[in-house]
Amino acid sequence: MTRSTDRFIDNKRHILVADDEMINREMLANILGDEYYVLMAEDGEQAYDIISHNRNTLSLILLDLKMPKLTGLELLSRVKEDPDIKGIPVIVLTSDQDSEVESLGLGAYDFIPKPYPQPDVIKARISRSIELAEDRQIITATEKDTLTGLFTSEYFYRYGEQFDKFHPLADTDAVCLDVKHFHVINERFGSAKGDEILKRIAGCLKSTFTDEECVICRMAADIFLIYCVHRDDYGHIADMISESCEDMPTSVKIRIGVYYSCDKKLDLRARIARAKIASNKIHNNYMISVGEYDETLMDNELFTEQLVDEFPKAIEEKQFQVFFQPKYDIRGDRPVLSSAEALVRWFHPTLGTISPGKFIPLFEEDGLISQLDEYIWRSAAKQIADWKARLGISVPVSVNLSRAEMYNPDLVGIFEKITTDTGITTKDILLEITESAYVRDADQIVDRVKSLREHGFFIEMDDFGSGYSSLNMISELPIDALKLDMMFIRTAFDKQNDTRMISIVIDIANYLEVPVIAEGVETEEQYLALKELGCAIIQGYYFSKPVTAGEFEKFLIERRERDKN
Ligand code: C2E
Ligand code: MG
Ligand code: MG
Repeated sequence: MTRSTDRFIDNKRHILVADDEMINREMLANILGDEYYVLMAEDGEQAYDIISHNRNTLSLILLDLKMPKLTGLELLSRVKEDPDIKGIPVIVLTSDQDSEVESLGLGAYDFIPKPYPQPDVIKARISRSIELAEDRQIITATEKDTLTGLFTSEYFYRYGEQFDKFHPLADTDAVCLDVKHFHVINERFGSAKGDEILKRIAGCLKSTFTDEECVICRMAADIFLIYCVHRDDYGHIADMISESCEDMPTSVKIRIGVYYSCDKKLDLRARIARAKIASNKIHNNYMISVGEYDETLMDNELFTEQLVDEFPKAIEEKQFQVFFQPKYDIRGDRPVLSSAEALVRWFHPTLGTISPGKFIPLFEEDGLISQLDEYIWRSAAKQIADWKARLGISVPVSVNLSRAEMYNPDLVGIFEKITTDTGITTKDILLEITESAYVRDADQIVDRVKSLREHGFFIEMDDFGSGYSSLNMISELPIDALKLDMMFIRTAFDKQNDTRMISIVIDIANYLEVPVIAEGVETEEQYLALKELGCAIIQGYYFSKPVTAGEFEKFLIERRERDKN
């Protein structure tokens, strides 16, 4: 058992007696032995050693001022200079009145005169000093965040309000600062690296803002709140923090939301909430590090909050449904149904149908996406199994994987369990991974995709052309199909019918020996042009919008009839 645990079990605290005279040490040990664990040192250096080794368990130091090697006063000032031990209370043992004053000036809690007074007096002074020190520790522990030394959020609001009281005319900003994808950094490089980044941020903030013009705290994890006199160099602060982390294994990008010159009639918490909203606004924008609050954002935010709050209930009440959109192979004389894409729909009891474009990005931000994705993958798999069993036919169905999924180390395990539980094969379910997932953290994503393929799954790269992956990288990507981003079709056919970009992508796909899937095909003109260009598969309103599982059966039956002939 370690000392620190037995301190909590029997509540007996540790005291160090530092005195060069044996008789004094023994006398104090006799008086205190029943109530305390007494450690003893016979000179200043030994005492410093014992203090350093017992910094977490030592409750008090009794210090003789006249000692060899290191005098009591020298030791006292060393203790007070070391932030790790300066909280341990020191009582000075002395026969010299002048030193009493000096030692109190150096931070001693109390003194006990020599010759020693009655044991009860000694005990009372000791226990009072310990109590005082422990109370003080509790206060500083809740006031300051131990990792960064900044205030905790409770004190932030308290001091922020005080700031307003003393500076009623000051023009102030409410600011919320965090690290983009901090959870990913923590997961990939470990929490020690994460902690180091947080300390660097705190360091930069302390050197940028002076105490007189601001209050700063670390609210939680990687979220820092700042309430300060108005300024306009937040972009510069974000850059400075990123630069201070340049030696880290990954680049550190900072996101800052600012409610500039805030309305002081609002509660400080409401002002900070607006800064958070401003920071959410730039969540998916990698080019911008500072977001500014404006009133229209507030309405959006209320809507967002409602969707996030209601997610668990929506899953429970099966408000999410999978729709299926057919994909047709157009290489032959007539288009043939070749597969489908599973797309989620939210049928909300009061808000009506909500499109995935609205809630997927929110859920990605809040970490709810994994739960939703798994729900959709499993529902799609059950549906495929049901079609196989009832209709004797099914086509492969592709499901979407959000970017966050690529960091899930058990991704392969999840898909294997889904296929085993539902009795479908790895060829029945295709995985769509958006191109932008490959662009960042390419190595890790490529490894994960490789392992999915080794387990028999097919991968389609979704939204190709929107993520700006380099040609160099594409040639090394493990994929089975390229899904052209809808924007290509839009621009190619909206403006002077210029399909050259599509041709280039089809050439790339040919080089990689994978088929091209075009999505968002709405007209016959587009369909014919894409066929002419050599596009293999088409998905879009031209054939069908995404439909319910029941409606999709007509496509399957049509295909079954065709196969018979
Ligand atoms: P996506 O994977 O690129 O899906 C294609 C989107 O294009 C779908 O939008 C589909 O309805 C729409 N679309 C298909 N054909 C046409 C067309 O001819 N014209 C037009 N204008 N649009 C067409 P939807 O269903 O709103 O989904 C939007 C995005 O939300 C999807 O883009 C996908 O990234 C994401 N998503 C949908 N379901 C899920 C899901 O279950 N999990 C995840 N992680 N993301 C999903
Ligand atoms: Mg997709
Ligand atoms: Mg797409």
